[in-house]
Amino acid sequence: MQKEIDMFDVQKIRKDFPILNREVNGKPLVYFDNAATSQTPQVVIDAIVDYYSNYNANIHRGVHTLSQEATDAYEIARKKVQQHFNAAHSHEIILTSGTTHSINIVATGFSSLLTKGDEIIVSALEHHSNIVPWQMLCERTGAVLKVIPMNEDGELLMDAYDQLLSEKTKLVFTNHISNALGTINPIEEIIEKAHHIGAAVLIDGAQSCPHIKPDVQKLDVDFYVASAHKLCGPTGVGLLYGKEEWLNKLPPYQGGGEMIDQVTFEKTTYAGLPHKFEAGTPNICGGIAFGVALDYMNSIGFDNIATYENELLAYGTKKLLEIEGLKIYGTSKQKTSVISFNVGDIHPYDIGSIVDKLGVAVRTGHHCAQPIMDFYKIPGTIRASFSFYNTKEEIDILVEAIKKAKMMLT
Ligand SMILES: *Cc1c(COP(=O)(O)O)cnc(C)c1O
Repeated sequence: MQKEIDMFDVQKIRKDFPILNREVNGKPLVYFDNAATSQTPQVVIDAIVDYYSNYNANIHRGVHTLSQEATDAYEIARKKVQQHFNAAHSHEIILTSGTTHSINIVATGFSSLLTKGDEIIVSALEHHSNIVPWQMLCERTGAVLKVIPMNEDGELLMDAYDQLLSEKTKLVFTNHISNALGTINPIEEIIEKAHHIGAAVLIDGAQSCPHIKPDVQKLDVDFYVASAHKLCGPTGVGLLYGKEEWLNKLPPYQGGGEMIDQVTFEKTTYAGLPHKFEAGTPNICGGIAFGVALDYMNSIGFDNIATYENELLAYGTKKLLEIEGLKIYGTSKQKTSVISFNVGDIHPYDIGSIVDKLGVAVRTGHHCAQPIMDFYKIPGTIRASFSFYNTKEEIDILVEAIKKAKMMLT
């Protein structure tokens, strides 16, 4: 193990990311907004250029060579996604436009499976994209939304979860890792307990996939969703994994080309999986580049990534806490390399603007998780999220920038 870590050469890895060479406001870019989107390595950029330069064509339709090549490449990408997430079948992998789209396919599909009084459980740590579709589902069906509360450390209260589960529970939904606080939720336990009472579980892996390689069969999860753009891939593509039996139970989400078997004006029969959920021309290039991004991340190795990012997290936490008046939100023992914080009463936006002038990209605001901010009674936080291509030297630059901002603002 140690030997593998020794081979982790961050300076060599940084050379794979052309954007890391640029300057912002005359300073070298320090990119700490990885929880919003990751940067793109040259191999992925090359795959995109190659597609549009050499074999751009619509898939699954044409007999001509370009169409065949594009179809083959797209289906190879689907297999790569299947292997990465360890799905039993490649037709259990629906390529979508991303996490939000994937969640909406499930939330809309459940309309036909729920009746008034049924219950859906979500966690208090959710991203807005994970709250709104369930509220809409409840409005359509008369189902009731229940929320697993959290404590001051940003951890879910599992005793309260036990209390919420009942025979009325039909679906449980939570993220694996909170994008706002970095908390790693005990999804194994959440899934097992939900299954015990016969409820289905959907896990949002958008924030965990960059750090942890999931195994959907081992988790025994019913649905799992993620976005390529947080995994060194392009925007506008992601996945919905569903167990075959569940995907067969859900109705199609959109009508259109690609998703049909036979069409007459009297009746249309739907195509089988995965095409039933892939109406219209998909993001072909994006799907292919997603496969290349997974190859790239696997070539670095998720154990190496986790070990290195944990070092960054420990270092960043220690250094930031040396700043007087700085408070970190999200102090769970189980967390990834996301640090959400405020400095005294200074508005996070003011600090964010000043550190940007110094070349440092952090996110400020509610991070699409307003209920968490309400819990802490704050308008938002500054969030620094580290990736495997970041360095301790960059964390030092962040700390100096925060100190400077604090001086200017107090
Ligand atoms: C980013 C993120 C989403 C939304 O992903 P999109 O790519 O914008 O659809 C959902 N959930 C979590 C936890 C996220 O981090």
